[in-house]
Order: sequence, then structure tokens, then C-alpha cells
Amino acid sequence: MLSTMQDDVPLTISRILRHGMTVHGDARITTWTGEAEPHRTTFRATGERAAQLAHALRDELGIGAEDRVATLMWNNSSHVEAYFAIPSMGAVLHTLNLRLPAEQLVFIVNHAADRVILVNGTLLPLLAPLLPRLQTVEHVVVVGPGDTSVLEGCTPQVHEYEQLLAGRPTSYDWPELDERAAAAMCYTSGTTGDPKGVVYSHRSVYLHSMQVNMAESMGLTTADTTLPVVPMFHVNAWGLPHAVFMTGVSMLMPDRFLHPGPLAEMIAAERPTHAAAVPVIWQGLLEELAATPRDISSLKTVTIGGSACPPSMMRAFEDLHGVRVCHAWGMTETSPLGSLAHPPGGLTPEEEWPYRITQGRFPAGVEARLAAPGGGFAPWDGASPGELEVRGPWIAAAYFGGVGEEPLRPEEKFSPDGWLRTGDVGVISPDGYLTLTDRAKDVIKSGGEWISSVELENALMAHEAVAEAAVVAVTDEKWGERPLAGVVFKEGHDPVPYEELRTFLGKTIARWQLPERWVTLDVVPKTSVGKFDKKVLRRQYAAGELDVTKLG
Ligand code: ADP
Repeated sequence: MLSTMQDDVPLTISRILRHGMTVHGDARITTWTGEAEPHRTTFRATGERAAQLAHALRDELGIGAEDRVATLMWNNSSHVEAYFAIPSMGAVLHTLNLRLPAEQLVFIVNHAADRVILVNGTLLPLLAPLLPRLQTVEHVVVVGPGDTSVLEGCTPQVHEYEQLLAGRPTSYDWPELDERAAAAMCYTSGTTGDPKGVVYSHRSVYLHSMQVNMAESMGLTTADTTLPVVPMFHVNAWGLPHAVFMTGVSMLMPDRFLHPGPLAEMIAAERPTHAAAVPVIWQGLLEELAATPRDISSLKTVTIGGSACPPSMMRAFEDLHGVRVCHAWGMTETSPLGSLAHPPGGLTPEEEWPYRITQGRFPAGVEARLAAPGGGFAPWDGASPGELEVRGPWIAAAYFGGVGEEPLRPEEKFSPDGWLRTGDVGVISPDGYLTLTDRAKDVIKSGGEWISSVELENALMAHEAVAEAAVVAVTDEKWGERPLAGVVFKEGHDPVPYEELRTFLGKTIARWQLPERWVTLDVVPKTSVGKFDKKVLRRQYAAGELDVTKLG
């Protein structure tokens, strides 16, 4: 028996756009410019400019259904225009990670067969040298000021964004698309092998946006202003630009001003109530505020994810600045919201902590199971580890294989029955809280037992002298592998003897897990999205480039 509901109304991004620009037309998008006045606009005006962009792309540049239109842009209101225009007209938005090495960017653009690249003028020096190797790009659209002389003589046609939009109609007859059609694509950072493309559908974006808006997720309302520091090329800024058009939450966009100083300034000046970013950004902000206090009291909550958030940092934000941190887990393949650490009700603030430092609970749209090391599935008992596998309507079922090619389903990433293998190892408690102990490839296998590199890092970062710590497995004759601890000392703090750090670790970590090998680092190497890049550390160690001390 079929339902009597309007099930044929497709869940499309144009519906989110129409809703946002009418019902929440006055909601604001403020973009930091680094000058006296930020750039200010509204959802209504953004929607009108999205229509103008769609007209320009169709009528001037010949973009049609399924064509890929890439963006190489910071978080700003023009990028939001592209976010809505491109999928709503039936084309596919491809956000490019501007921090990737040139080789990977070239690979990604060619693999996706992007026809157009919208690029912020400030990023032209990055794009221009790559253009001769971009085989499918016919048009470059320069958004905002920049030195266009670097584009002289290039093959693609060059356009100026404002000129392209000028005079075009401010409404567009958005086509009624299949909700399963491709809307946007994003490549994983490619830590092993070539980057892999995840293609989001209108339906997956729509459902994920509703999840972002739930109270047990980010739960923002029209009274809020959110600051997505997480880039719009990093899993769609965790879904925030789409989600806010559903709920009328205003946005403060940092553009290219991502250093702690300007971030602190824009928070003090524009008073956002929420922000989202990876831990390394927050660590920087804490240090900045310690050196130069600013008023960040408008911030009520921040969502932190992308890599394990050290509990000491969560505490510091709450104790020093009254900001409540919500820890979240996700991946490019999971759109990214996979789990969020909201504690159960009825607890005291102290009782909440053990829940809040986990990776959290899964929303109803995400089913989870733990593949046990010996086969089968581990119970949710808070103790039995396994590799996390997930499935749901905003989880990838495959990777983009290339134009005209079949999707890729490598067996290390997808189980035979279609679940996503996350590569993350952890335990799940009986009441559904996920605690990740490591990435499968970062686990330290010492004498047949597993040591969690994340646990050691978190414990080290709780020491008052330590700014950052990264722990990697190194080969050991006797034990197979042992942990090597790399520490970055806080500025202005004298280095602490390694013996003292080891004793400090011994308060919370079992003796046999304590590292013998130690090294002081200037910085922990980071990936293009700000995560600890442990493969660089492993390589440096293997090449004998690190000045390692071995304790007896
Ligand atoms: P990207 O950051 O570009 O999305 P990935 O999709 O590879 O790159 O990153 C996802 C991975 O990041 C997860 O599989 C997990 O290992 C790690 N991660 C994300 N959030 C957390 C978290 N809260 N705690 C621990 N690890 C996390």
C-alpha cells in the first residue's frame, strides 16, 4: 500500500534556497574584509545574486545539467551564491581545497572534468601556474580584487564576476530535479593514493541540513549568528551554509582571515553566538586570547571536530571564556555529521564531562556497528574495540570513478553489504556513545597489544607546558612498535625534561604504554585541513631527521 503523502516533492537545494531567501530574507551574511567595515548582505540579496550567477553560467558560459563548476574560494558571501546557484540549476558544485599540493589540485580538477573555476582574486597566484595542466577548464571567473595580470595568455576565457552578473535577472526558474541527482562534490584529502571524490545528492544535502539544525546537533535558531571557520571546501563547511538557509541563522564569514588575531577581532566586533572549526584553530585562539585578551563572550557554543579534540582544550574554553564546546565526529564520506557529544539529561556539569569528551552519539540517520578484529561485530559494551562502520542517507556508498566511469567501491572502504568502513577504531557504550581510540593506521601495535596514540596525545596536551603533541608508532626490535612522542612547548614556557613529562603521563596512562622515545618539535606538521600529519613525522623519523632522545 502506498502512502497518501506528497512523496514526489523532491528534496532539492533550490527548495532550501527559496525558503531561506523568502522566509528568512533579512538574515545576514557578514564577510570580514580586514578593513574598517566588513561586507554585509542578506539571504534575500544572496539568493538574487545566485539567480544572476545561474543565468550567467547558463547563458554566457554554456553550463548545462551535470556540468562541474569548481570554486577555489574562501568562506565569503560570493561563495554562498555559488553554493546555491550551481546545484539549483542542475550543475554540480565542486569545491577545491586551496591548501592541497599543486599535484593533487591538478589531479582533482582533471578527474572531475571541471569546466569552470570561480576563483577569489586573492588566490590567483595559486591557480595561474596550474592552468596549463587543467585539461577541461574553459572559463575562469575572478571573484573580488586580485592581480589578474598572472592570467595573461592563459587558454581559458577570463571573466570578472561582477561584470558577469551585472544586469541579469534576479530570479531564476529553477528546474525540478531528481533529488538523487549530484549536487556537490568534494575530494578526500588523499592521505593514501589519489584523492577520492564524494558526490553529494540534493537529497543527502537536504537531509543532512535538517540534521545539522536539530537541537541535539548544532541546534541554532534565528537568534544566532554562526562563524564557520571550517572552510567551505572542507565537507561543505560541515553543512552550515545549507543548514542556515533552512533556519535563518545569520553567518559571519572569515574570508581569508583565519589567523587567531583576526578571528579574535571579528568575534569581538561581530559577536557570533556559535562557531565551528578543527581543534588546531581553537588551540591558536586560546593562545591568542591569553596573550591579548578580547571579548569573546558572545560565543555560547563551538562545534569542534575533524580530529580528536583534547579534553584539556574543552575545559580551557569553558573555564576561561565560558564557551561550551561540543565535540563531533565525521568524514568527507559522511557529509560530515556522524556523531555529536551531547551529554544525557539530568547530570551535573561534572558528571557530563565523561560523555562530552567522547565522539558522541549517532543521530537517527546514522546507523553504526563495530567490525571486531577477529571477525563479526563487537558489542556496544564500552570496552570491545572494532573498526567503525556506518550507513545512512547522507553516507557515501561509493567514490566518483571519473566521467563516464563506474563508481569505485574499494573493499577496504565499503563492506560487501554496503556499509562505509571508516578506518576509525573505537568502542561504543551501551547508551550509544562512541569513543575513538585511533585511526586504524595510527594505532601503535606494541607486543601484541594496542596503544592509542590519541590517548597519549590528549594526556600530554593536558600538561601546562605543552602546546601540541603528536604520537606515532616507530619500529622497535623487541616490541614490534613503540610510541614516539613529539611535543611542542608553549611559547614563553621553558622546555620540560622528558622524564617529567613521562611521569606526568604515568598518572593516567598504564606504564607499559609510556613512550621511551621523545622529540621536541617547532610545530606538529599539519594536513591541508589542519589535522596532525603523522605520516610526515613517520617519514622524518625514518629519514633520521628528528633529534630523538631515548629514555632508559
Ligand atoms: P577530511 O577531514 O578532509 O574530511 P577525512 O574525511 O579523511 O578528511 O577525515 C575524517 C577523519 O577525521 C575521520 O575518519 C577521523 O579519523 C578523523 N576525525 C574526525 N573527527 C574526529 C574526532 N572528533 N575525533 C577523532 N577523529 C576525528
